[in-house]
Amino acid sequence: MSRLWSPFVQNLVPYTPGEQPKHRSFVKLNTNENPYGPSPKVIAAIAGTNDDSLRLYPDPTAGDLRQAIAATHGLSMAQVFAGNGSDEVLAHAFNAFFRDKGPVLFADVTYSFYPTYCNLYGLEYRTLPLDAEFRLDPAAYEGPCGGIVIANPNAPTGRAPGLAAIRDVLDRNPDVVVIVDEAYVDFGGDSAAPLIAEYDNLLVVQTFSKSRSLAGLRVGFALGHPDLIEGLTRVKDSFNSYPLGRPALAGALAAWQDRAHFDETRAKVMASRAHVTEGLSAQGFTVLPSQANFVFARHPDVAGADLMAGLRERGILVRHFGAERIRDWLRISIGTEADCAALLAATADLVAH
Ligand code: PMP
Repeated sequence: MSRLWSPFVQNLVPYTPGEQPKHRSFVKLNTNENPYGPSPKVIAAIAGTNDDSLRLYPDPTAGDLRQAIAATHGLSMAQVFAGNGSDEVLAHAFNAFFRDKGPVLFADVTYSFYPTYCNLYGLEYRTLPLDAEFRLDPAAYEGPCGGIVIANPNAPTGRAPGLAAIRDVLDRNPDVVVIVDEAYVDFGGDSAAPLIAEYDNLLVVQTFSKSRSLAGLRVGFALGHPDLIEGLTRVKDSFNSYPLGRPALAGALAAWQDRAHFDETRAKVMASRAHVTEGLSAQGFTVLPSQANFVFARHPDVAGADLMAGLRERGILVRHFGAERIRDWLRISIGTEADCAALLAATADLVAH
């Protein structure tokens, strides 16, 4: 019998991350990484953190990075929070703002870390169903609740709710914090960031993992009213006063400053997404319109689990989720053009048999 030492740990259901294979070289389209790699300036900046600077603690305020992010968005540094990946920023936000007021609301098909955070912090939650086409109904987000989370665009569907729907949810819920998780917004979505000037309860969370190709560095950030940022900072400082190490601070700053690399690589991802959407549709797949760096697709004749297994046998990893409602759907990250061609060749083979 295992000794987990506490009922709390015994009952925790942790998030299961997508596979990160160590040995075989797969075409890896399962965890929405960016196939193009970060700006070369990031590598130079990280290399510049030498043994003398690593001896010292990093800036606990992440000041240079927050200042750079703030300037781009026309905000003050007091409106920007930085953390160790947007997962950690989201965790701090749930911990800080979603207590004691009622269930946290989010969609029935969305990022599966949200219920995990609720479990971790002992928060009640309620899921609200997306419609048959996986669209969000803002009118459902009404009534007493502890807070709201909306992914813009949503994961794993890739569908963006649109700013009108986000505004509608904010208008209906002025007294709770509304988190808009924009991990994928740079691939053609409309960011809710401009709305923070109007709504003091809006927290927009973004990441360097996807559009800046730095999933391995673990940097995310939040934008919001200074009071929200102060709340996050208090929670962070009660947890770890140095969430970002010097290499992460230096690398993220360099990535933020290389706008040309950012624009060039996200344009390539968006072009490949159009190509994959077209190719899969021609093979009979239903593909949801995506504004993320992945597509969500199903085929009428082949079960999702079989497609995933067949792709794996052909050296391609994609993500398949167990939940009943999305049992036949695959989430397929957008890779390089060669990755996309390999994917389309493999799916053509699988659906023909
Ligand atoms: N939000 C969503 C919707 C995601 O899919 C992810 C990536 N798995 C994250 C947040 C977290 O990304 P990161 O911690 O790498 O910033």
